[in-house]
Amino acid sequence: MEFDYIIVGAGSAGCVLADRLSACGRYQVLLLEAGGSDKRFFVQMPIGYGKTYYQKAVNWMYTAEPSAGTQDRKSYWPRGKVLGGSSSINAMVFVRGNKQDYDDWAAAGNPGWAYDDVLPYFKRMESWQGGENPYRGGHGPLIVSNVADQLHPLCDNFIAAGQEMGLEFNPDMNAGRQEGVGFYQLTTHKGQRMSAARAYLWSARSRSNLQVIKRAQVTRLLLADKQIIGVEFSHRGKVRQAHAKREVVLSAGSINTPQILQHSGIGPEQVLSAAGVSLQHQSPAVGQNLQDHLGMDYLYTSLIPTLNEQLRPWYGKFWQGLVYLLTRQGPLSLSVNQAGGFVKTRADLTYPNIQLYLSPVSYTRAPVGKRPLMNPDPFPAFLLGLSNCRPKSRGQVTIASNDPLQAPTIEPNYLSHDDDVQDLLEGVKLLRKMALMPSLQQVIGKEIRPGPECQTDAQLIADIRGYAWTVFHPTSTCRMGPDPATSVVDHKLKVHGLKGLRIADASIFPQLICGNTNAACTMVGEKAADMILSDGEAIQ
Ligand SMILES: Cc1cc2nc3c(=O)[nH]c(=O)nc-3n(C[C@H](O)[C@H](O)[C@H](O)COP(=O)(O)OP(=O)(O)OC[C@H]3O[C@@H](n4cnc5c(N)ncnc54)[C@H](O)[C@@H]3O)c2cc1C
Repeated sequence: MEFDYIIVGAGSAGCVLADRLSACGRYQVLLLEAGGSDKRFFVQMPIGYGKTYYQKAVNWMYTAEPSAGTQDRKSYWPRGKVLGGSSSINAMVFVRGNKQDYDDWAAAGNPGWAYDDVLPYFKRMESWQGGENPYRGGHGPLIVSNVADQLHPLCDNFIAAGQEMGLEFNPDMNAGRQEGVGFYQLTTHKGQRMSAARAYLWSARSRSNLQVIKRAQVTRLLLADKQIIGVEFSHRGKVRQAHAKREVVLSAGSINTPQILQHSGIGPEQVLSAAGVSLQHQSPAVGQNLQDHLGMDYLYTSLIPTLNEQLRPWYGKFWQGLVYLLTRQGPLSLSVNQAGGFVKTRADLTYPNIQLYLSPVSYTRAPVGKRPLMNPDPFPAFLLGLSNCRPKSRGQVTIASNDPLQAPTIEPNYLSHDDDVQDLLEGVKLLRKMALMPSLQQVIGKEIRPGPECQTDAQLIADIRGYAWTVFHPTSTCRMGPDPATSVVDHKLKVHGLKGLRIADASIFPQLICGNTNAACTMVGEKAADMILSDGEAIQ
């Protein structure tokens, strides 16, 4: 099998590449995806992410190693293993990040990645339902929905409480200014999930120059000297190979992209030798610099009905199921993360350090292995939540053996940097302050978690260490930068020191952004496609 381009991984970035590289018809493109079809009810129905969260058929279901900073707790790391990748199982909140995030990427030695450079890609990729304007796109394949009129009334209480404490209402956190409180926009369309697969791949698959092979897990890259010439993959129990005349693009995500590189002998020498893999190309930053957002929830009983009453009883499920099937509306057509915002907890910050969430639902007694979005608490309650924006703790992803089908070791090293503890501490104090504002006081019965006995800084920090959890945004394990000793790809996403290999996914982020990561991964796919196509034309 020989192709011009081989893309590994049909996720948020990989689907974009498959579409854009095959669109001109000049190139033969192969897309290899370890998972299967995304045409599944619980993938397409938005609230189905409560189900796919623990569904082996579409999820890698990783477990990260204990972190000393979070009381040696292990954490569960879902990652999409299906067409669409994690965009097929995520919570659909659409956030671009802060202008400063990208300006800092560029300032770290990555020309072409400042906000003004990436804005055209953010616009090109989307059709924002609110209409095109200097910040928003109106003609892209990814439909971003404005669902403000369908959200739970508690969102209005949350936003009013934010304003009462001095935060501004922000009608579009993806436009000129990110700070403030507002309604979240969703990657849904007419009540169905708008994954990268639906947006980019479904129509592209009809092209004869694009071949998509599902359940094909790439195990290693084929190297000839310092040139990547193809990939080896496992498919239906057989080992197969495919050759690339031009380039291989790794879009397997922050966990699997470094895993594939390390199994190919590309990575830090000591990691490879410990795993019994012979070194082909020394690249010390492969798998390093792992960053992730960490979240906290405070739980309040509600004096008005919440989604708990709508979704818990059988008749509620039946009714909402019917509403969804007949109208594609109601809570099953939405995310449970409905309103939120971005705030600076200190005046000296140049970008927000805390992201806020309002979820009009609660699930206090979730047994391990279940995420009961459809089985919430038997009393009216809601969650005020937050996550940090730019954590300073760093972890790593390393292969555990020379078996490419064995899960890699993920060490998040959460809260190993004191500044991250401080951010979360200031964040939970801000949540509490918000809960005391009149508009939330009107609807709050009492705080159940962590509860009124948790008051001093020491108690709040102990609660953070004992409770904080991933919000599923791992990045930077093959980060972009000018120095091969500390980064893996250059500003054109080419792997330092190798020919014929680029990376395009969350692993290239030089630094985690302020906000959810799906939109930025899609943008990376768009920009990568543009760079690959213009380089391709140069060598016709
Ligand atoms: C539960 C959950 C909730 C989230 N909620 C949100 C949210 O609300 N908003 C938001 O913006 N972001 C959210 N995210 C994060 C966001 O979805 C991801 O950051 C983004 O999708 C990552 O894109 P990617 O292209 O880096 O990788 P992915 O989309 O993960 O794609 C990688 C693809 O590569 C495939 N692959 C991996 N290894 C191989 C291999 N060896 N061979 C072949 N294929 C392989 C995978 O199966 C997968 O399909 C969430 C993530 C999760 C898991």
